[in-house]
Amino acid sequence: MKHYINLRIMIIASAALLMTAVLCTYACYRVFREEVIDNLKICTRLLSDKENIQDEKVLLDVASDLYDDNIRLTLIDKRGDVIFDNVARIEGLDNHLNREEIEKAIEKGEGYSVRRSATINRTNYYYAVRLPDGSILRTARESHSIINIFWQAVPLILLVILIVLIVCYFSSRFLTRHLLAPVETIAANMNHPEIIRTYPELEPIIAHIRKQHDDILEHANLRQEFTANVSHELKTPLTSISGYAELIESGLTGEEDTQKFAGEIHKSADRLLSLINDILRISEVDTLAGSDFETESVDLYEIAGTCVDMLELTARDHDITISLDGEKTMVTANRSMMEELIFNLCDNAIRYNSPGGYVHVTARDHMLKVSDNGIGIPPEYQARVFERFFRVDKSRSKRTGGTGLGLSIVKHIVTLHGADLILNSVPVEGTTIVVQFAPCP
Ligand code: ADP
Repeated sequence: MKHYINLRIMIIASAALLMTAVLCTYACYRVFREEVIDNLKICTRLLSDKENIQDEKVLLDVASDLYDDNIRLTLIDKRGDVIFDNVARIEGLDNHLNREEIEKAIEKGEGYSVRRSATINRTNYYYAVRLPDGSILRTARESHSIINIFWQAVPLILLVILIVLIVCYFSSRFLTRHLLAPVETIAANMNHPEIIRTYPELEPIIAHIRKQHDDILEHANLRQEFTANVSHELKTPLTSISGYAELIESGLTGEEDTQKFAGEIHKSADRLLSLINDILRISEVDTLAGSDFETESVDLYEIAGTCVDMLELTARDHDITISLDGEKTMVTANRSMMEELIFNLCDNAIRYNSPGGYVHVTARDHMLKVSDNGIGIPPEYQARVFERFFRVDKSRSKRTGGTGLGLSIVKHIVTLHGADLILNSVPVEGTTIVVQFAPCP
């Protein structure tokens, strides 16, 4: 980037210099041209005012002086024929009436013209004055053309360009280094975006980087925490399986104990299975985030009915009544995710309930509601129940086969479907969870 900026500055500086040189040359040429014409004008006027200027003797006298000053003097008669010239032989000269300066002099009394000389790099300047008898006195001078002036200035221009380029090179290096320093600071301090001080124009980019950085950190922390939690959760049932198996292996346990220990092993193995099941499920839903997953038009009421049927027996075992209310309501969603969502919510409503309690499931107007009159969730934990492995009462959750992942899977599914999730809970009175979907397009 620095190279790029340096190069650009140098190119721009050179182009600007070249343009300035051309313009300056042109301006100088204009001044020079005016000067030459003015000089010729004064000279011609003085000569024309001189007495007897048409006398050959006088003419020869002044002409030699003029010749020394590189000024050509010509006298032309009324008809346009040259009768005197201090440079050219008059016999070879053609009629001069159609020369621009002569035409002007005849018409207005005096006139000038500038003509390119036969030699390409020279220019001829002419000034003519009409004398009282109608003949024309003309002076002329050969001088540099604009191209010639420019070529003469080329070495000087090149020298200036070289000096300016050297100055430009060092100042642009200093400038780019100075300008890009904040950008380099950003690159060097990606991990500490809070210490970066930079231009206001770069603030949006920094804010974006800062946010991305925070997101990545948060994600990494969550991942680390999740891995630690998973290991911890898996360790508990495995330790218990290993312990009971060791006891049985020692052969010191009686038949009754062996049966009891085998039962414990069975319970822990079941727990391991449901844990692994939920962990797999949550990573599956995690990988779906941001990618396309299969959706179809599904009836929430129908899926809720299937879940209620499936849980009827469990509810009865816990002395809880489960009921379904509502009507057909279609939403665009992934069917198996919807089954899982409704099942998890109903399962929780049964597990965190008291004997004699109820679970009401309602599906209508693209909305699903599961309410119970169970133990409820204390207000301080309501925001946290959707976190992975968070449980209000760990032992109750474990006793009832919970893994602490159910609601976080629910939250994930809701987010993936762009739906809203509302939790209302009062300890001892009960809990209501509402999931509001967007209407089918
Ligand atoms: P778990 O597998 O422990 O049930 P969840 O993620 O499903 O995990 O729920 C997290 C915690 O939220 C539960 O441990 C429980 O304390 C609380 N909870 C969830 N649903 C209810 C409910 N309907 N009533 C009371 N508490 C609930």
